[in-house]
Amino acid sequence: MSYQLSMQDGSALPWPSEKIVCVGQNYVAHIEEMGSNRVKDPVIFMKPSTALCDLHQPLRLPDFSNDVHHEIELAVIIGKTVRQIAEADVTDHIHAYALAIDLTARDLQKQFKERGHPWELAKAFDGSCPISTCIPTAAVEDPQDVELQLTVNGEIRQSGNTRMMIHSIDKLITFISRHVTLLPGDVLLTGTPEGVGQLKSGDMLECRLGEELTVDTIMN
Ligand code: MG
Repeated sequence: MSYQLSMQDGSALPWPSEKIVCVGQNYVAHIEEMGSNRVKDPVIFMKPSTALCDLHQPLRLPDFSNDVHHEIELAVIIGKTVRQIAEADVTDHIHAYALAIDLTARDLQKQFKERGHPWELAKAFDGSCPISTCIPTAAVEDPQDVELQLTVNGEIRQSGNTRMMIHSIDKLITFISRHVTLLPGDVLLTGTPEGVGQLKSGDMLECRLGEELTVDTIMN
């Protein structure tokens, strides 16, 4: 099952989304709050297309976790097949940007980490990637200088700027494309700034990407 993203004007993207490639630990202050060590290469994991859901609709908390965390992230939507790409060519292969939340079952992730096992099920579950409508690239002046903010019940939880990324969008896509081909419609999540925390049923969320996009949503 693939997922169909749409642009802000309501038009559907020309391709369905087949996968989401995510980077962990791409903001220094978030690495510190997680007690993780900084590593040289980007930490990459994936979510299947069944993780995608509409950020503009009420979001569902999974019943197998008591500690689901929000991680607000800039999403990059691929527009052309990307394989073994040079950094200088990346921009031309990006179709759009969006806001996404990398929902994470932190309690499960902690258990898996302690056992030295992959934490796939803590990150890739159904509905674990709420995503907004897409903003055309032309509407984002500099994707490496845009504010990301998440407010929960009126309190600012996460506030960062994409200029604080350790690995830039170009570097991330070049790195990933050495191993995995990205297809038009695929989504890249670029990491979260600090301030991740627990979500509860009834929480009201305001997600903001600079001046370009604000989305209000609620946790069911
Ligand atoms: Mg994340």
